[in-house]
Amino acid sequence: MVRPRILVVGAGFAGVECIRRLERRLSPAEADITLVTPNSYQLYLPLLPQVASGVLTPQSIAVSLRRSSRYRTRIIPGGAVGVDTEARVCVVRKITGELTEHAYDYLVLAPGSITRTFDIPGLTEHARGMKTLAEATYLRDHVIAQLDLADASEDEAERAARLCFVVVGGGYAGTETAACLQRLTHHAAKRYPRLDPGQITWHLLDLAPKLMPELGDSLGRVALDVLRRRGIQVSLGVSVAKVSSTEVTLTDGRVLPSRTLIWTAGVAASPLIGTLGAETVRGRLLVTPEMSVPAAAGVFALGDAAAVPDLAAREEGAICPPTAQHALRQGRAVADNLIATLRHQPLRPYVHKDLGLVVDLGGTDAVSKPLGIPLRGLPAQAVARGYHWSALRTNVAKTRVLTNWLLNAVAGDDFVRSGLTAAKPPTLREFEYTDTYLSADQVRAHMAALRATG
Ligand SMILES: Cc1cc2nc3c(=O)[nH]c(=O)nc-3n(C[C@H](O)[C@H](O)[C@H](O)COP(=O)(O)OP(=O)(O)OC[C@H]3O[C@@H](n4cnc5c(N)ncnc54)[C@H](O)[C@@H]3O)c2cc1C
Repeated sequence: MVRPRILVVGAGFAGVECIRRLERRLSPAEADITLVTPNSYQLYLPLLPQVASGVLTPQSIAVSLRRSSRYRTRIIPGGAVGVDTEARVCVVRKITGELTEHAYDYLVLAPGSITRTFDIPGLTEHARGMKTLAEATYLRDHVIAQLDLADASEDEAERAARLCFVVVGGGYAGTETAACLQRLTHHAAKRYPRLDPGQITWHLLDLAPKLMPELGDSLGRVALDVLRRRGIQVSLGVSVAKVSSTEVTLTDGRVLPSRTLIWTAGVAASPLIGTLGAETVRGRLLVTPEMSVPAAAGVFALGDAAAVPDLAAREEGAICPPTAQHALRQGRAVADNLIATLRHQPLRPYVHKDLGLVVDLGGTDAVSKPLGIPLRGLPAQAVARGYHWSALRTNVAKTRVLTNWLLNAVAGDDFVRSGLTAAKPPTLREFEYTDTYLSADQVRAHMAALRATG
Protein backbone atom coordinates (compact mmCIF):
# COMPACT_ATOMS: atom_id res chain seq x y z
CA MET A 1 0.00 0.00 0.00
CA VAL A 2 1.30 3.51 -0.83
CA ARG A 3 1.80 5.61 2.27
CA PRO A 4 0.68 9.26 2.26
CA ARG A 5 3.60 11.70 1.92
CA ILE A 6 3.69 14.53 4.46
CA LEU A 7 6.11 17.35 3.66
CA VAL A 8 6.89 19.92 6.35
CA VAL A 9 8.64 23.17 5.40
CA GLY A 10 10.61 24.88 8.19
CA ALA A 11 12.21 23.53 11.36
CA GLY A 12 11.19 26.28 13.75
CA PHE A 13 8.86 26.21 16.72
CA ALA A 14 5.85 25.31 14.58
CA GLY A 15 7.44 22.84 12.15
CA VAL A 16 9.42 20.85 14.72
CA GLU A 17 6.55 20.60 17.17
CA CYS A 18 4.29 19.36 14.35
CA ILE A 19 6.83 16.74 13.26
CA ARG A 20 7.51 15.46 16.76
CA ARG A 21 3.78 14.99 17.32
CA LEU A 22 3.36 13.21 13.97
CA GLU A 23 6.30 10.92 14.78
CA ARG A 24 4.80 10.06 18.13
CA ARG A 25 1.20 9.55 17.03
CA LEU A 26 1.56 8.00 13.56
CA SER A 27 3.18 4.63 13.05
CA PRO A 28 5.84 4.45 10.29
CA ALA A 29 3.36 2.42 8.24
CA GLU A 30 0.81 5.25 8.30
CA ALA A 31 2.80 8.01 6.58
CA ASP A 32 6.21 9.11 5.26
CA ILE A 33 7.36 12.34 6.84
CA THR A 34 9.89 14.66 5.20
CA LEU A 35 11.25 17.97 6.49
CA VAL A 36 12.74 20.73 4.34
CA THR A 37 15.10 22.92 6.33
CA PRO A 38 18.23 24.87 5.45
CA ASN A 39 19.76 24.15 8.88
CA SER A 40 20.09 20.99 10.94
CA TYR A 41 18.82 22.66 14.12
CA GLN A 42 15.80 24.36 15.59
CA LEU A 43 16.72 27.90 16.61
CA TYR A 44 15.45 29.06 19.98
CA LEU A 45 14.95 32.66 18.82
CA PRO A 46 13.89 34.29 22.11
CA LEU A 47 17.43 33.75 23.44
CA LEU A 48 19.15 35.32 20.38
CA PRO A 49 19.88 38.64 22.18
CA GLN A 50 21.82 36.61 24.75
CA VAL A 51 23.94 35.13 21.97
CA ALA A 52 24.58 38.61 20.58
CA SER A 53 25.66 39.81 24.00
CA GLY A 54 27.85 36.75 24.65
CA VAL A 55 25.89 35.41 27.63
CA LEU A 56 25.19 32.23 25.62
CA THR A 57 27.29 30.54 22.96
CA PRO A 58 25.57 30.16 19.55
CA GLN A 59 25.50 26.37 19.82
CA SER A 60 23.47 26.46 23.03
CA ILE A 61 20.33 27.75 21.29
CA ALA A 62 20.73 25.66 18.12
CA VAL A 63 18.73 22.62 19.22
CA SER A 64 19.64 19.45 17.32
CA LEU A 65 17.14 17.79 14.96
CA ARG A 66 19.00 14.49 15.18
CA ARG A 67 19.50 14.01 18.91
CA SER A 68 17.25 10.99 19.35
CA SER A 69 17.27 7.68 17.48
CA ARG A 70 13.46 7.78 17.66
CA TYR A 71 13.41 10.63 15.12
CA ARG A 72 12.54 9.06 11.77
CA THR A 73 11.78 12.06 9.58
CA ARG A 74 13.81 12.37 6.37
CA ILE A 75 15.56 15.75 6.29
CA ILE A 76 16.22 17.59 3.03
CA PRO A 77 18.92 20.22 3.53
CA GLY A 78 17.65 23.26 1.66
CA GLY A 79 14.87 25.81 1.43
CA ALA A 80 11.49 25.56 -0.29
CA VAL A 81 11.49 28.21 -3.03
CA GLY A 82 8.08 27.62 -4.57
CA VAL A 83 5.01 25.38 -4.46
CA ASP A 84 2.74 24.17 -7.26
CA THR A 85 -0.38 23.50 -5.22
CA GLU A 86 -2.25 22.02 -8.19
CA ALA A 87 0.43 19.47 -9.04
CA ARG A 88 1.15 19.07 -5.30
CA VAL A 89 4.87 19.59 -5.73
CA CYS A 90 7.23 21.67 -3.63
CA VAL A 91 10.36 23.03 -5.32
CA VAL A 92 13.40 23.02 -3.04
CA ARG A 93 16.74 24.74 -3.49
CA LYS A 94 19.23 22.45 -1.76
CA ILE A 95 22.16 23.97 0.12
CA THR A 96 24.27 23.21 -2.98
CA GLY A 97 22.03 25.52 -5.08
CA GLU A 98 20.49 22.60 -7.01
CA LEU A 99 16.67 22.73 -7.56
CA THR A 100 14.79 19.54 -6.68
CA GLU A 101 11.07 18.71 -6.71
CA HIS A 102 9.21 16.92 -3.94
CA ALA A 103 5.73 15.56 -4.47
CA TYR A 104 3.45 15.60 -1.43
CA ASP A 105 -0.03 14.53 -0.40
CA TYR A 106 -0.03 16.88 2.60
CA LEU A 107 2.07 20.01 2.93
CA VAL A 108 2.71 21.85 6.21
CA LEU A 109 4.04 25.36 5.62
CA ALA A 110 5.95 26.69 8.63
CA PRO A 111 8.77 28.83 7.17
CA GLY A 112 8.39 31.58 9.80
CA SER A 113 9.20 35.20 9.08
CA ILE A 114 11.97 37.55 8.03
CA THR A 115 12.94 41.04 9.21
CA ARG A 116 10.39 43.57 7.95
CA THR A 117 12.00 46.45 6.12
CA PHE A 118 10.66 49.68 4.65
CA ASP A 119 11.61 51.82 1.71
CA ILE A 120 14.22 53.81 3.66
CA PRO A 121 17.35 54.83 1.73
CA GLY A 122 20.35 52.70 2.75
CA LEU A 123 18.37 50.44 5.09
CA THR A 124 18.77 47.07 3.40
CA GLU A 125 22.50 47.65 2.81
CA HIS A 126 23.50 48.99 6.22
CA ALA A 127 21.03 47.66 8.80
CA ARG A 128 21.65 44.42 10.67
CA GLY A 129 18.81 42.15 11.78
CA MET A 130 18.30 39.87 14.79
CA LYS A 131 16.48 36.90 13.26
CA THR A 132 19.16 34.30 12.58
CA LEU A 133 22.03 32.73 14.47
CA ALA A 134 24.43 34.20 11.90
CA GLU A 135 23.03 37.70 12.49
CA ALA A 136 23.33 37.44 16.28
CA THR A 137 26.87 36.03 16.04
CA TYR A 138 27.85 38.70 13.54
CA LEU A 139 26.40 41.48 15.71
CA ARG A 140 28.44 40.43 18.71
CA ASP A 141 31.61 40.48 16.61
CA HIS A 142 30.64 43.81 15.09
CA VAL A 143 29.98 45.49 18.45
CA ILE A 144 33.29 44.26 19.92
CA ALA A 145 35.04 45.37 16.70
CA GLN A 146 33.66 48.90 17.22
CA LEU A 147 35.11 48.94 20.75
CA ASP A 148 38.49 47.68 19.47
CA LEU A 149 38.58 50.21 16.62
CA ALA A 150 37.45 53.11 18.81
CA ASP A 151 40.12 52.18 21.35
CA ALA A 152 42.79 52.16 18.65
CA SER A 153 41.71 55.42 16.98
CA GLU A 154 43.24 58.86 17.63
CA ASP A 155 40.35 60.58 15.82
CA GLU A 156 37.76 61.85 18.30
CA ALA A 157 34.93 61.92 15.71
CA GLU A 158 35.63 58.37 14.65
CA ARG A 159 35.74 57.19 18.26
CA ALA A 160 32.36 58.81 18.97
CA ALA A 161 30.75 57.32 15.85
CA ARG A 162 32.05 53.84 16.60
CA LEU A 163 30.73 54.07 20.15
CA CYS A 164 27.22 55.16 19.07
CA PHE A 165 24.81 52.23 18.63
CA VAL A 166 21.27 52.57 17.26
CA VAL A 167 18.52 49.97 17.68
CA VAL A 168 15.16 50.41 15.94
CA GLY A 169 12.09 48.54 17.23
CA GLY A 170 10.56 48.79 20.68
CA GLY A 171 9.06 45.28 20.70
CA TYR A 172 10.59 42.52 22.83
CA ALA A 173 13.27 41.71 20.22
CA GLY A 174 14.58 45.29 19.99
CA THR A 175 14.22 46.08 23.67
CA GLU A 176 16.02 42.91 24.77
CA THR A 177 18.71 43.41 22.13
CA ALA A 178 19.40 47.01 23.17
CA ALA A 179 19.37 46.10 26.87
CA CYS A 180 21.63 43.03 26.54
CA LEU A 181 24.14 44.66 24.19
CA GLN A 182 24.30 47.83 26.27
CA ARG A 183 25.31 45.62 29.21
CA LEU A 184 28.02 44.07 27.05
CA THR A 185 29.54 47.46 26.13
CA HIS A 186 29.13 48.74 29.71
CA HIS A 187 31.13 45.80 31.10
CA ALA A 188 33.62 45.97 28.21
CA ALA A 189 34.54 49.55 29.09
CA LYS A 190 36.48 48.24 32.14
CA ARG A 191 38.75 46.25 29.81
CA TYR A 192 39.38 49.21 27.49
CA PRO A 193 41.17 51.74 29.70
CA ARG A 194 41.57 54.25 26.86
CA LEU A 195 37.81 54.45 26.28
CA ASP A 196 35.63 56.92 28.14
CA PRO A 197 32.53 54.90 29.21
CA GLY A 198 30.52 58.14 29.00
CA GLN A 199 31.21 58.22 25.26
CA ILE A 200 29.38 54.92 24.66
CA THR A 201 25.81 55.77 23.65
CA TRP A 202 22.87 53.52 22.91
CA HIS A 203 19.67 54.72 21.21
CA LEU A 204 16.44 52.75 21.07
CA LEU A 205 13.82 54.13 18.67
CA ASP A 206 10.25 53.23 17.85
CA LEU A 207 7.59 54.98 15.82
CA ALA A 208 4.92 53.90 18.33
CA PRO A 209 4.23 56.09 21.38
CA LYS A 210 4.97 53.23 23.82
CA LEU A 211 7.51 50.46 24.32
CA MET A 212 6.03 46.96 24.20
CA PRO A 213 2.37 48.05 24.59
CA GLU A 214 1.45 44.40 25.35
CA LEU A 215 3.16 44.86 28.76
CA GLY A 216 0.54 47.39 29.84
CA ASP A 217 1.21 50.93 31.09
CA SER A 218 2.81 50.23 34.44
CA LEU A 219 5.19 47.42 33.40
CA GLY A 220 5.99 49.32 30.20
CA ARG A 221 7.05 52.26 32.38
CA VAL A 222 9.22 49.93 34.52
CA ALA A 223 11.00 48.66 31.39
CA LEU A 224 11.48 52.23 30.17
CA ASP A 225 12.93 53.28 33.55
CA VAL A 226 15.39 50.36 33.55
CA LEU A 227 16.61 51.29 30.07
CA ARG A 228 16.91 55.01 30.89
CA ARG A 229 18.68 54.30 34.18
CA ARG A 230 21.25 52.33 32.20
CA GLY A 231 21.77 55.36 29.95
CA ILE A 232 19.93 54.04 26.88
CA GLN A 233 18.33 56.98 25.08
CA VAL A 234 14.80 55.90 24.22
CA SER A 235 13.05 58.00 21.55
CA LEU A 236 9.38 57.18 20.86
CA GLY A 237 7.43 58.42 17.85
CA VAL A 238 10.73 58.48 15.91
CA SER A 239 12.24 56.28 13.22
CA VAL A 240 15.02 56.33 10.66
CA ALA A 241 14.82 58.59 7.58
CA LYS A 242 18.02 57.38 5.90
CA VAL A 243 21.18 55.50 6.71
CA SER A 244 24.71 55.29 5.36
CA SER A 245 27.82 53.42 6.48
CA THR A 246 28.77 56.31 8.75
CA GLU A 247 25.55 57.94 9.96
CA VAL A 248 21.89 57.41 10.78
CA THR A 249 19.44 60.25 10.06
CA LEU A 250 16.28 60.19 12.18
CA THR A 251 12.81 61.32 11.18
CA ASP A 252 12.99 64.13 13.77
CA GLY A 253 15.98 65.59 11.88
CA ARG A 254 18.76 64.40 14.20
CA VAL A 255 21.84 62.95 12.52
CA LEU A 256 23.68 60.33 14.59
CA PRO A 257 27.22 59.53 13.43
CA SER A 258 27.21 55.75 13.92
CA ARG A 259 28.51 52.53 12.35
CA THR A 260 25.78 50.36 13.86
CA LEU A 261 22.09 50.22 13.02
CA ILE A 262 20.25 47.19 14.43
CA TRP A 263 16.85 46.85 12.78
CA THR A 264 14.17 44.90 14.65
CA ALA A 265 11.09 46.87 13.59
CA GLY A 266 8.75 43.94 13.13
CA VAL A 267 8.62 40.82 11.00
CA ALA A 268 7.07 39.89 7.65
CA ALA A 269 5.99 36.39 6.59
CA SER A 270 8.59 34.33 4.73
CA PRO A 271 8.80 35.30 1.02
CA LEU A 272 7.75 31.70 0.26
CA ILE A 273 4.18 32.72 1.11
CA GLY A 274 4.12 35.33 -1.69
CA THR A 275 5.10 32.68 -4.26
CA LEU A 276 1.86 30.74 -3.74
CA GLY A 277 -0.37 33.40 -5.26
CA ALA A 278 -2.89 32.64 -2.48
CA GLU A 279 -4.88 35.07 -0.33
CA THR A 280 -2.93 36.74 2.49
CA VAL A 281 -3.71 38.93 5.50
CA ARG A 282 -0.99 41.54 6.08
CA GLY A 283 1.40 39.28 4.16
CA ARG A 284 0.60 36.17 6.20
CA LEU A 285 -1.13 33.25 4.47
CA LEU A 286 -4.87 33.17 5.06
CA VAL A 287 -5.92 29.95 6.78
CA THR A 288 -9.07 28.57 8.36
CA PRO A 289 -9.31 28.19 12.16
CA GLU A 290 -8.20 24.55 11.53
CA MET A 291 -5.12 26.01 9.76
CA SER A 292 -5.83 24.56 6.34
CA VAL A 293 -5.31 26.78 3.30
CA PRO A 294 -8.54 27.41 1.36
CA ALA A 295 -8.31 26.44 -2.33
CA ALA A 296 -5.07 24.48 -1.82
CA ALA A 297 -6.00 20.87 -1.12
CA GLY A 298 -3.87 19.14 1.51
CA VAL A 299 -2.01 22.32 2.54
CA PHE A 300 -1.78 23.58 6.13
CA ALA A 301 0.04 26.72 7.27
CA LEU A 302 0.94 28.00 10.72
CA GLY A 303 3.30 30.05 12.86
CA ASP A 304 4.63 33.48 11.85
CA ALA A 305 3.93 32.70 8.17
CA ALA A 306 0.16 32.22 8.58
CA ALA A 307 -2.74 34.44 9.61
CA VAL A 308 -4.33 32.01 12.06
CA PRO A 309 -7.63 33.37 13.43
CA ASP A 310 -7.27 34.13 17.14
CA LEU A 311 -10.50 32.64 18.48
CA ALA A 312 -9.55 33.45 22.09
CA ALA A 313 -9.22 37.20 21.39
CA ARG A 314 -12.00 39.61 22.25
CA GLU A 315 -11.86 41.53 18.97
CA GLU A 316 -13.67 40.10 15.98
CA GLY A 317 -11.35 39.09 13.12
CA ALA A 318 -8.16 39.09 15.24
CA ILE A 319 -5.24 36.94 14.12
CA CYS A 320 -2.70 35.29 16.40
CA PRO A 321 0.38 37.44 17.07
CA PRO A 322 3.69 36.09 15.69
CA THR A 323 5.03 34.48 18.87
CA ALA A 324 6.74 31.22 19.75
CA GLN A 325 3.98 30.58 22.24
CA HIS A 326 1.41 30.34 19.43
CA ALA A 327 3.71 28.71 16.84
CA LEU A 328 4.49 25.81 19.16
CA ARG A 329 0.87 25.09 20.00
CA GLN A 330 -0.23 25.53 16.40
CA GLY A 331 2.37 22.88 15.49
CA ARG A 332 0.66 20.38 17.76
CA ALA A 333 -2.81 21.37 16.54
CA VAL A 334 -1.84 21.00 12.85
CA ALA A 335 -0.36 17.57 13.56
CA ASP A 336 -3.63 16.54 15.22
CA ASN A 337 -5.67 17.89 12.30
CA LEU A 338 -3.46 16.13 9.78
CA ILE A 339 -3.87 12.85 11.62
CA ALA A 340 -7.64 13.45 11.80
CA THR A 341 -7.64 14.03 8.02
CA LEU A 342 -5.80 10.74 7.43
CA ARG A 343 -8.24 8.93 9.68
CA HIS A 344 -11.35 10.65 8.25
CA GLN A 345 -12.15 12.30 11.57
CA PRO A 346 -13.37 15.88 12.10
CA LEU A 347 -10.76 18.66 12.40
CA ARG A 348 -10.55 20.99 15.42
CA PRO A 349 -10.11 24.77 15.36
CA TYR A 350 -7.03 26.23 17.06
CA VAL A 351 -7.79 28.08 20.30
CA HIS A 352 -5.16 29.31 22.75
CA LYS A 353 -5.39 32.04 25.35
CA ASP A 354 -2.17 34.02 25.62
CA LEU A 355 -0.12 33.04 28.70
CA GLY A 356 1.72 36.35 28.93
CA LEU A 357 5.12 37.72 28.16
CA VAL A 358 8.67 37.62 29.54
CA VAL A 359 11.31 40.26 28.77
CA ASP A 360 14.91 39.66 29.85
CA LEU A 361 16.82 42.95 30.10
CA GLY A 362 20.07 41.30 31.23
CA GLY A 363 21.54 40.74 34.70
CA THR A 364 18.79 40.91 37.29
CA ASP A 365 16.68 43.30 35.22
CA ALA A 366 13.52 41.89 33.67
CA VAL A 367 9.79 42.44 33.42
CA SER A 368 7.27 39.69 32.89
CA LYS A 369 3.58 39.10 32.95
CA PRO A 370 2.88 35.39 33.41
CA LEU A 371 -0.88 34.74 33.33
CA GLY A 372 -1.44 38.50 33.63
CA ILE A 373 0.55 38.87 36.90
CA PRO A 374 2.96 41.82 36.59
CA LEU A 375 6.49 41.07 37.86
CA ARG A 376 9.73 43.06 37.80
CA GLY A 377 13.37 42.58 38.84
CA LEU A 378 14.59 39.25 40.18
CA PRO A 379 11.19 37.44 40.31
CA ALA A 380 10.53 38.51 36.70
CA GLN A 381 14.00 37.33 35.70
CA ALA A 382 13.47 33.96 37.42
CA VAL A 383 10.20 33.53 35.52
CA ALA A 384 11.78 34.61 32.21
CA ARG A 385 14.79 32.30 32.46
CA GLY A 386 12.75 29.45 33.97
CA TYR A 387 10.25 29.72 31.12
CA HIS A 388 12.89 29.73 28.38
CA TRP A 389 14.91 26.98 30.03
CA SER A 390 11.94 24.67 30.35
CA ALA A 391 10.86 25.39 26.76
CA LEU A 392 14.20 24.18 25.31
CA ARG A 393 13.47 20.86 23.70
CA THR A 394 16.44 18.67 24.64
CA ASN A 395 18.24 18.03 27.92
CA VAL A 396 21.56 18.73 26.22
CA ALA A 397 20.35 22.19 25.16
CA LYS A 398 19.04 22.81 28.68
CA THR A 399 22.41 21.85 30.17
CA ARG A 400 24.34 24.03 27.72
CA VAL A 401 22.15 27.06 28.46
CA LEU A 402 22.27 26.60 32.22
CA THR A 403 26.06 26.14 32.19
CA ASN A 404 26.48 29.26 30.06
CA TRP A 405 24.28 31.32 32.39
CA LEU A 406 26.26 30.17 35.43
CA LEU A 407 29.61 30.76 33.75
CA ASN A 408 28.60 34.22 32.60
CA ALA A 409 27.27 35.14 36.05
CA VAL A 410 30.53 34.04 37.70
CA ALA A 411 33.22 34.91 35.15
CA GLY A 412 31.59 37.57 32.95
CA ASP A 413 32.54 38.10 29.30
CA ASP A 414 35.99 37.87 27.77
CA PHE A 415 35.18 40.15 24.77
CA VAL A 416 36.70 37.90 22.14
CA ARG A 417 36.10 38.93 18.55
CA SER A 418 36.27 35.98 16.19
CA GLY A 419 36.98 38.07 13.07
CA LEU A 420 33.78 37.15 11.25
CA THR A 421 33.15 39.04 7.99
CA ALA A 422 34.83 42.19 9.22
CA ALA A 423 35.64 43.63 5.79
CA LYS A 424 32.33 43.18 3.96
CA PRO A 425 29.40 42.23 6.19
CA PRO A 426 26.47 40.49 4.48
CA THR A 427 23.31 42.55 3.95
CA LEU A 428 19.91 41.69 5.46
CA ARG A 429 19.01 39.99 2.17
CA GLU A 430 22.12 37.83 2.26
CA PHE A 431 21.75 36.98 5.95
CA GLU A 432 18.10 35.96 5.53
CA TYR A 433 18.26 34.48 1.98
CA THR A 434 15.28 36.52 0.83
CA ASP A 435 16.11 36.53 -2.89
CA THR A 436 16.30 32.78 -3.50
CA TYR A 437 12.56 32.34 -4.15
CA LEU A 438 10.76 31.64 -7.44
CA SER A 439 7.65 33.61 -8.44
CA ALA A 440 4.37 31.70 -9.04
CA ASP A 441 5.03 31.99 -12.81
CA GLN A 442 8.57 30.67 -12.42
CA VAL A 443 7.29 27.67 -10.44
CA ARG A 444 4.74 26.90 -13.19
CA ALA A 445 7.42 27.32 -15.91
CA HIS A 446 9.80 25.08 -13.97
CA MET A 447 7.14 22.35 -13.63
CA ALA A 448 6.14 22.65 -17.31
CA ALA A 449 9.79 22.31 -18.38
CA LEU A 450 10.14 19.20 -16.21
CA ARG A 451 6.99 17.67 -17.72
CA ALA A 452 8.23 18.46 -21.25
CA THR A 453 11.52 16.66 -20.65
CA GLY A 454 9.62 13.69 -19.23
C1 LIG B 1 14.94 38.26 19.11
C2 LIG B 1 13.58 37.60 19.23
C3 LIG B 1 13.01 37.39 20.48
C4 LIG B 1 11.76 36.75 20.58
N1 LIG B 1 11.24 36.56 21.83
C5 LIG B 1 10.05 35.89 21.94
C6 LIG B 1 9.51 35.60 23.22
O1 LIG B 1 10.07 35.98 24.25
N2 LIG B 1 8.33 34.91 23.27
C7 LIG B 1 7.68 34.48 22.14
O2 LIG B 1 6.63 33.83 22.26
N3 LIG B 1 8.17 34.75 20.92
C8 LIG B 1 9.35 35.43 20.79
N4 LIG B 1 9.86 35.70 19.54
C9 LIG B 1 9.07 35.33 18.36
C10 LIG B 1 9.23 33.85 18.02
O3 LIG B 1 10.59 33.48 18.00
C11 LIG B 1 8.56 33.54 16.69
O4 LIG B 1 7.23 33.96 16.74
C12 LIG B 1 8.63 32.04 16.42
O5 LIG B 1 9.97 31.66 16.22
C13 LIG B 1 7.78 31.67 15.20
O6 LIG B 1 7.86 30.29 15.00
P1 LIG B 1 7.81 29.69 13.52
O7 LIG B 1 7.96 28.23 13.67
O8 LIG B 1 6.65 30.23 12.79
O9 LIG B 1 9.09 30.32 12.82
P2 LIG B 1 10.62 30.09 13.18
O10 LIG B 1 10.81 29.65 14.56
O11 LIG B 1 11.31 31.36 12.75
O12 LIG B 1 11.04 28.92 12.23
C14 LIG B 1 10.99 28.99 10.84
C15 LIG B 1 11.97 27.99 10.31
O13 LIG B 1 11.78 27.86 8.91
C16 LIG B 1 13.04 27.90 8.25
N5 LIG B 1 12.78 28.42 6.91
C17 LIG B 1 12.61 29.69 6.51
N6 LIG B 1 12.35 29.74 5.21
C18 LIG B 1 12.35 28.46 4.78
C19 LIG B 1 12.15 27.86 3.50
N7 LIG B 1 11.89 28.60 2.42
N8 LIG B 1 12.23 26.51 3.41
C20 LIG B 1 12.50 25.76 4.50
N9 LIG B 1 12.71 26.27 5.72
C21 LIG B 1 12.63 27.61 5.85
C22 LIG B 1 13.90 28.79 9.12
O14 LIG B 1 15.27 28.51 8.90
C23 LIG B 1 13.42 28.40 10.50
O15 LIG B 1 14.15 27.29 10.96
C24 LIG B 1 11.09 36.34 19.41
C25 LIG B 1 11.67 36.55 18.15
C26 LIG B 1 12.91 37.16 18.06
C27 LIG B 1 13.52 37.37 16.70
